[in-house]
Amino acid sequence: MAMDSNLSKQDQLQDLYQQLENDVANLPLAKKAVDIVPGEGPVTAEVMFIGEAPGYHEAVQRRPFVGRSGQFFRQTLNDLNIDDQGVYISNVVKARPPDNRDPTPAELAAYKPYLDAEIKIINPVLIITLGRFSMAKFLPEVRISQVHGRLHKVRWNGAITFILPMYHPAAGLRSTNVKQAFIADFAKIPKAVAWIKSQQAELKFAATIKEALL
Ligand code: URA
Repeated sequence: MAMDSNLSKQDQLQDLYQQLENDVANLPLAKKAVDIVPGEGPVTAEVMFIGEAPGYHEAVQRRPFVGRSGQFFRQTLNDLNIDDQGVYISNVVKARPPDNRDPTPAELAAYKPYLDAEIKIINPVLIITLGRFSMAKFLPEVRISQVHGRLHKVRWNGAITFILPMYHPAAGLRSTNVKQAFIADFAKIPKAVAWIKSQQAELKFAATIKEALL
């Protein structure tokens, strides 16, 4: 993915989505540039949510998480006083699979370079995966029922990255137990972000001391 790091983050992101739209002939699921549903949110966001793929409403409005499960997701954030306009929201696959079926390995692979570049540009403090497809990108071979709501520190693309896996909101709409877990997990977000930032500040401080002593 060609990325010009001299551009502002906003311009890099715009560039990325322009490349993605120009590439639709080579991408599965999308036939035209308008089939692409871009990520949404400020480039300075500390929290990045990654879902699965756009559904019907997302494809029509070209916005992620605006259908029924999206409304539940955004309402859960707002109930916790987290502004849904202050976080970055995207998907592993950027166009709608027919009948909302699961994305195939080939579809995931085709969109991967774009998602990787998007994560690099946003460079969030915390990545929250919604559902098993985005979770598997960072935490292969775990079960969502065992790890949801637990902060994970992984090495991803050469950098320490914090991942908080969550259930997909659509699963929360299907089961009361999952819904309760989904809401309880979301309540952990502010503390998780504060903790990661304190760790990063400590590491920075330690590096400054080390440099001063050398
Ligand atoms: N489900 C997803 O995973 N993503 C969306 O954008 C909407 C529903």
